[in-house]
Amino acid sequence: MKVTEHIQEAKGNTLVSFEVLPPLKGKTIQSLYNHLDPLMEFKPAYINVTYHRAETMFKKRVDGSFEQVEVRKRPGTVGICAAIRNHYNIDTVPHLICGGFNKQETENALIDLNFLGIDNVLVLRGDAAKNESSFEPHPGGHLYAIDLLKQVVNLNNGIYIEDDIQNGEKTKFCIGVAGYPEKHFEAPNLEIDLQNLKKKVDAGADYIMTQMFFDNSKFFQFVKDCRACGINVPIIPGLKPLTSKKQLSVLPRIFHVDIPTELSLEVMKCKTDADVEIVGTEWLLQQSRELKEFGAPVLHYYTLGKPKVIWNVVKELV
Ligand SMILES: Cc1cc2nc3c(=O)[nH]c(=O)nc-3n(C[C@H](O)[C@H](O)[C@H](O)COP(=O)(O)OP(=O)(O)OC[C@H]3O[C@@H](n4cnc5c(N)ncnc54)[C@H](O)[C@@H]3O)c2cc1C
Repeated sequence: MKVTEHIQEAKGNTLVSFEVLPPLKGKTIQSLYNHLDPLMEFKPAYINVTYHRAETMFKKRVDGSFEQVEVRKRPGTVGICAAIRNHYNIDTVPHLICGGFNKQETENALIDLNFLGIDNVLVLRGDAAKNESSFEPHPGGHLYAIDLLKQVVNLNNGIYIEDDIQNGEKTKFCIGVAGYPEKHFEAPNLEIDLQNLKKKVDAGADYIMTQMFFDNSKFFQFVKDCRACGINVPIIPGLKPLTSKKQLSVLPRIFHVDIPTELSLEVMKCKTDADVEIVGTEWLLQQSRELKEFGAPVLHYYTLGKPKVIWNVVKELV
């Protein structure tokens, strides 16, 4: 089922969904099931699986010189989506990115997903590779998420890259895109970022999934601004628990989000990360309750190695 169908069927009730990363290369799929098993009691509507581009690394040869190698540390997104679907009989949302892929590889991945019966994709640009100062598209790939989105929309209309394919099967992907209540870090301002988001929606995005945020008022304002500029698709808040003191500086640096003063002060008072986890759990619970009250269609939790914290929060909500 599509994410939008889940939302329609819920008739205004707030659903939950979870997001996982593929296990590191060499780890088993069981490690992922162990992570997800306890969360399944909350009957999530779907599970998102992130995508990770290959990284360029330098490996030392025996003669002391260095060899440049491409390493994908977390491969398997498409396979994991199929595995989770089989294992739990639940819908999955694979993330697809522009970075590192040409259009043919993207089309092949979409064909695989279609054959596997996966109805959803979250289309993203991806970040710059670690050895690049800014995002560089693959020479045969896409520059912005909207370009990737248009490729999926084309496939939904039976338009494949090879124009000699006549009456090609029309896929039926439900397409999600990313939105940033606190602005995408490269956008000159919130207004321009919102205009770019509207272009993605006008080009066929079915819903928006947000970057994490710790201050609900930023999400409420974002929804208001989206509605004011004619964005009428569902907007799903992305939520993450704060679980260590280090995150006070790491999260703003990596994800370009603010940590509210009240939360920062509480965290700074903590003696250990176990204490931070208690503060972070309570904060996330309050955020979740308020978002549910607001009528958020889905509460989407980034579980990122902290399924127990998410479990503690969601059990209080149901
Ligand atoms: C919910 C969510 C899930 C994510 N999952 C992953 C993942 O699985 N794997 C991964 O690698 N990364 C992931 N990311 C990170 C994401 O790839 C980065 O945030 C990336 O920098 C931007 O992706 P985007 O899809 O928002 O890009 P875009 O929508 O392309 O926007 C990127 C920037 O370009 C601007 N822009 C957009 N269109 C235009 C245009 N036509 N002209 C000029 N400027 C334009 C935007 O305002 C923005 O500043 C995720 C982010 C979110 C919020």
